[in-house]
Amino acid sequence: MSQNIFPPRRNSVGVRVGTVTIGGGAPVVVQSMTNTDTEDESSTTSQVAQLARAGSELVRITVNTPAAAKAVAGIRARLDDMGCHVPLIGDFHFNGHKLVTEYPDCARALAKYRINPGNVGHGKKRDEQFSILIETACKYDKPVRIGVNWGSLDPELLARMMDENARSGDPKDASLVMHEALITSALQSAARAEEIGLGRDKIILSCKMSGVRDLIAVYRDLAARCDYALHLGLTEAGMGSKGIVASAAALSVLLLDGIGDTIRISLTPEPGGDRSREVIVAQEILQTTGLRAFVPLVAACPGCGRTTSTYFQELAESIQGYVRNQMLVWREEYDGVENMTLAVMGCVVNGPGESKHANIGISLPGSGERPVAPVYVDGQKSVTLKGDNIAGEFRQIVDEYVQMKYPKKAGNVH
Ligand code: SF4
Repeated sequence: MSQNIFPPRRNSVGVRVGTVTIGGGAPVVVQSMTNTDTEDESSTTSQVAQLARAGSELVRITVNTPAAAKAVAGIRARLDDMGCHVPLIGDFHFNGHKLVTEYPDCARALAKYRINPGNVGHGKKRDEQFSILIETACKYDKPVRIGVNWGSLDPELLARMMDENARSGDPKDASLVMHEALITSALQSAARAEEIGLGRDKIILSCKMSGVRDLIAVYRDLAARCDYALHLGLTEAGMGSKGIVASAAALSVLLLDGIGDTIRISLTPEPGGDRSREVIVAQEILQTTGLRAFVPLVAACPGCGRTTSTYFQELAESIQGYVRNQMLVWREEYDGVENMTLAVMGCVVNGPGESKHANIGISLPGSGERPVAPVYVDGQKSVTLKGDNIAGEFRQIVDEYVQMKYPKKAGNVH
């Protein structure tokens, strides 16, 4: 089996975040972050719900002001009223220690806190403020992600390590010192959190960078030096295809190395773009690397001079959209539909071969071919579609296949 060429998942300590488990052998968890103003309860609630509907299993919100902290419990209550129980993570920076102390409802309503050791204050204050956040997590029995970011790395730690390196007989490249400083910051902060009383099963680490090779190098090293659960993400991944490709390139390598217990894709949305795109990309990375299945995948050929129109592209797109929407219903009713594979091919010369590898495949007529579209189901030719409603009839075939092939979930048997 080709799976055996990949290392097994790294052993990590499992961390319970509300109803979700990160690490400890649990499936890799998808998370996302809102970009609404948390002070605006209504728009933050609706974006959290939208991200959760798209498949985000945890959602992070920034908690940056007293008004934002005050809004958190209300957001939690509104979500619960909507039947959306996705755990909320609070993202804290310089004033987090004050907010969790002054707004205990906020501290209680969050399922996890995220602290960046480079952004909790400076000098003596940093230790005090870090301690207050960890003590609060202990008090309310909440896990914490200690999330180091290369853009906000503890400047005192970095300066000290750079000085030590410069004075050594054989100084290393500055980028390697930076890598080591990130890891040191995460591990020292985790050790300090444990001294304060936070259990190992309440700690998740991350060391985010924006360079693909840097991120892979840092996480490989970090993973070898601890057994804390790890959150993966390429920070400032960027917009559009650049952000998607860079995130997929970095995370796929690490995930296939067995590293990573939860992921977030930091995509910059296009103006007016859909925030849930980052959830879909995270799911697709996990699904195409064979780690989890979320929605049926649609394989489609790229098209070439044989394709006479954009019809097959439109069909591929409409089928992908259809199965993603339908999955909201199928997920509740049937077991295993997420493993279904579909193929939409642009001609009947090469199409049937690919179609036979999918559960359901269709080959549309190419240039000069008869206007018919053979459909294969589980490798066998099933029917040939023609006329103006090929897309509608194909969707019906998919629906019937789901009903016939996948068992009804308990409680949904009629
Ligand atoms: S399946 Fe047909 S239309 Fe699609 S790329 Fe191959 S030859 Fe071209």
